[in-house]
Amino acid sequence: MKIDVLTLYTEIYDVFKSGIIGKALDKKIFELNVHNIREFSKDKHKRCDDYPFGGGAGMVMTPQPLHDAITKIDPEHTAKRIYLSPKGKRFDQKTALSLSKEKHLMFINGSYEGVDQRILDMDVDMELSIGDYVLTSGDYATIVIINAISRYIKGVLGSDESTKEESFSNGLLEYPQYTRPQKFMGLEVPEVLLSGNHAEIQKWRKQKSIEITKVKRPDLLEE
Ligand code: SAM
Repeated sequence: MKIDVLTLYTEIYDVFKSGIIGKALDKKIFELNVHNIREFSKDKHKRCDDYPFGGGAGMVMTPQPLHDAITKIDPEHTAKRIYLSPKGKRFDQKTALSLSKEKHLMFINGSYEGVDQRILDMDVDMELSIGDYVLTSGDYATIVIINAISRYIKGVLGSDESTKEESFSNGLLEYPQYTRPQKFMGLEVPEVLLSGNHAEIQKWRKQKSIEITKVKRPDLLEE
């Protein structure tokens, strides 16, 4: 998969130089290209924002640098072009899985009060939000989304099993996990996990998943 990111803050993406994603990028399991929108500005001072028509607080990102960046980086429109916005569809695990199957994604990041509406009307396929709160720029949302998507790209995680039995994969939250030592600060690991009885362990985990989901996210059970 190829991912293009359009941003005013390229250095934010240094976060992907380390960790699991950093390793996957080094191994070229997927490709990430971060482009500076400012470089596409035809303004002599490379400005990318202006006052909103109609007045109001803050600045709006001008359409020219964005439109030129989008169409030069993706001239044939092969990418699914995603704009990050609190007004977008709420991003979730299902969307992560579905986007992980795309060959080419483009993330377009707004700053200030957002981008000129004509960019959304002309150049964007989909708007995504990571939650009902307002961030200073779309980049923080893009980082979350790329991280969640990349876990589904073959070869990124050590084992593909990791994405099969975890929170949201079957509509439930994950069961509790334990590791060594068997007794810590007087607290024991549940007996069944030490039994070696795979069927019983599976039954216990399913039961715990349902109990935890009922308490923490009853809305998931209703779904
Ligand atoms: N004026 C906009 C509004 O009220 O909807 C908010 C602008 S926000 C300060 C700047 C940029 O951050 C937005 O253009 C968008 O790209 C991004 N952003 C903010 N909150 C977001 C969220 N919850 N999910 C995704 N992107 C977000």
